[in-house]
Amino acid sequence: MHKELERQLAEYLGVEYISLFANGTLALITALQALNITGEVITTPYSFVATTHSIFWNKCTPVFVDVEPNYFNIDPAKIEAAITEKTTAIMPVHVYGNPCDVEAIQQIADKHHLRIIYDAAHAFGVKKDGVSILNYGDLSVLSFHATKIYSTIEGGAVICHSQEMKHHIDNLKNFGFRGETVVEEPGINAKMNEVQAAYGLLSLKYIDEAIAKRKQIVEKYREELKNLSGISFLPEQNGVEYNYSYFPVFVDEAQYGMSRDALYEKLKAANILGRRYFYPLISTFEPYKELPSSQNLTIAQKAAEQVICLPLYPDLENENVERIISIVKQ
Ligand SMILES: *Cc1c(COP(=O)(O)O)cnc(C)c1O
Repeated sequence: MHKELERQLAEYLGVEYISLFANGTLALITALQALNITGEVITTPYSFVATTHSIFWNKCTPVFVDVEPNYFNIDPAKIEAAITEKTTAIMPVHVYGNPCDVEAIQQIADKHHLRIIYDAAHAFGVKKDGVSILNYGDLSVLSFHATKIYSTIEGGAVICHSQEMKHHIDNLKNFGFRGETVVEEPGINAKMNEVQAAYGLLSLKYIDEAIAKRKQIVEKYREELKNLSGISFLPEQNGVEYNYSYFPVFVDEAQYGMSRDALYEKLKAANILGRRYFYPLISTFEPYKELPSSQNLTIAQKAAEQVICLPLYPDLENENVERIISIVKQ
């Protein structure tokens, strides 16, 4: 079932090689291992904490670069200033499934001989000009955690671009075993199990329907909230096929007349659970806050203080969408 799910996912996603993992974090850690990444890795503070942890677990130093103000992805214009002779890789994140500026990042990587590992945990099924966003960079990593749009309960994957690399990654996730008596590499146990794969084969049948339902809800949120003073949301990029993973809104306290946290509490009092993705910034957490690069991440900091993701799941009933909208409008 593991192999069958790899086959079906490669076809569904439009990628050539995919290797399934027990979860997204192990997939990130193994992706860095697969490319022998050492030294410093440039990344974004505006993500889920596992992005940075995966760098740390490889005994590398994370170097934070601020995000751009349109989609809150890593700002390519600020990457070069962060490169030192120790830099070996860039780990950007397609935040909320909005593609990073993949061309600009590739140009920088080519110029400085760096590898690119995309944390694509939010980008399942996302396409740019008809091509899967997972085909950019050296490797891309997915998460199939229950909170993501496509789930195997827990799970993850690494997407790569050659048979040799897939062989290497498959070794690394399964103790390095090839057959019963041969160990080719010092691997870990990070493979997806058969129960996860069985669940994934079933849930793949419903993914298109789930994305379509999410899209309807997002369109309603956009329509109803578009003229609300102090509430903004991300524009859509031309030529991108979205997966509608999240619906983040950004609260400008002065204009809206209430802080993001006050709105969060108000929704919570009505039993509506918004999520502050991503708050606090990774660079403010205990293990990372003393890093030199953790200072002056002003655009990311502002986004973290203003963001709240409104509830979004395929079976969210229309009357509840309306209830959420009316509370945000009040
Ligand atoms: C969910 C997520 C991860 C971690 O994936 P797990 O499957 O939960 O280990 C990593 N990065 C980002 C951006 C995520 O959203």
